[in-house]
Amino acid sequence: MTSILNADLHCHSVVSDGTLTPEALAARAKANGVVLWALTDHDEIGGQQRAATAAKALGLHYLTGVEISVTFIGQTVHIVGLGFDPENPALQLGLSQTRGGRGQRARDMSAGLAKAGIHGAYEGALKFAGNHDLISRTHFARFLVESCVCKDTNEVFRKYLTEGKPGFVEHRWASLKDAVTWITQAGGVAVIAHPARYKFTANQEFALFTEFKGHGGQGVEVVTGSHTPAEYLTYADTAREFGLVASRGSDFHSPDESHTELGTLPHLPGNVTPVWELLAQRIQYAAVTSLGADAAAGH
Ligand code: AMP
Ligand code: MN
Ligand code: MN
Ligand code: MN
Repeated sequence: MTSILNADLHCHSVVSDGTLTPEALAARAKANGVVLWALTDHDEIGGQQRAATAAKALGLHYLTGVEISVTFIGQTVHIVGLGFDPENPALQLGLSQTRGGRGQRARDMSAGLAKAGIHGAYEGALKFAGNHDLISRTHFARFLVESCVCKDTNEVFRKYLTEGKPGFVEHRWASLKDAVTWITQAGGVAVIAHPARYKFTANQEFALFTEFKGHGGQGVEVVTGSHTPAEYLTYADTAREFGLVASRGSDFHSPDESHTELGTLPHLPGNVTPVWELLAQRIQYAAVTSLGADAAAGH
């Protein structure tokens, strides 16, 4: 399969911190010319069945997806899983444990914000959460914008929700090894999400890629809404150096907040192997469209 494919393999629905339903996302992906799609909610695969059903009805090819929160040498790293079996019990248990700490964390965040004079943030954020098991900083950000504390979610993160700010709470997520293992043992491919976003030194980043690969990780996001065009090239080189396949995804959350629209990023650079080449057997092909006919014919 070609690297010139409108695949969008990273986005969020109301099942985590997006504002659209899986069905609305599928329709938006289709309208924007996406051919291969994956919904990748944070730490949660409760939207997978709806996404796959909606995709198929629209003639979109589908890969199962998730974005797992991991703590690696003191920083939060996101690992995207693609093409896994959503019924896998170890994956389901691991994700449920990863989600588990979010309720207490949200109460602690709310207590921190109260000290800064912002009251009722827990209840306020909860109103924005489509899934109460998956309350995230994004929901707090929406509440603070609604309450006119800040003008947009970016400002909320900058002033209140990042390290050293009143609503920030240190949290221990899954280990890198566990997240990669849950995904791969369920038949999927693990992908390092938006690597340019992390504040690692060169040595720490090298350690992340080396350990990720050692645990069985196989991919890295190269073209994502979080990267600049220069970073596409940097991480295409990194993919080649580490023998990883490359992924492409907008990380779309909301029509009002996201600067990158579903399915509108540039194609992967030509010098990388696309992740969908590894996943041909795991794609849920829709009945009609060229990729479907191609794949069904075994090409
Ligand atoms: P959490 O998993 O609760 O820590 O929330 C992380 C989510 O917050 C990310 O997936 C993004 O959707 C969102 N986020 C993180 N940093 C920012 C930022 N600077 N501006 C807007 N949204 C952000
Ligand atoms: Mn998010
Ligand atoms: Mn992420
Ligand atoms: Mn994401």
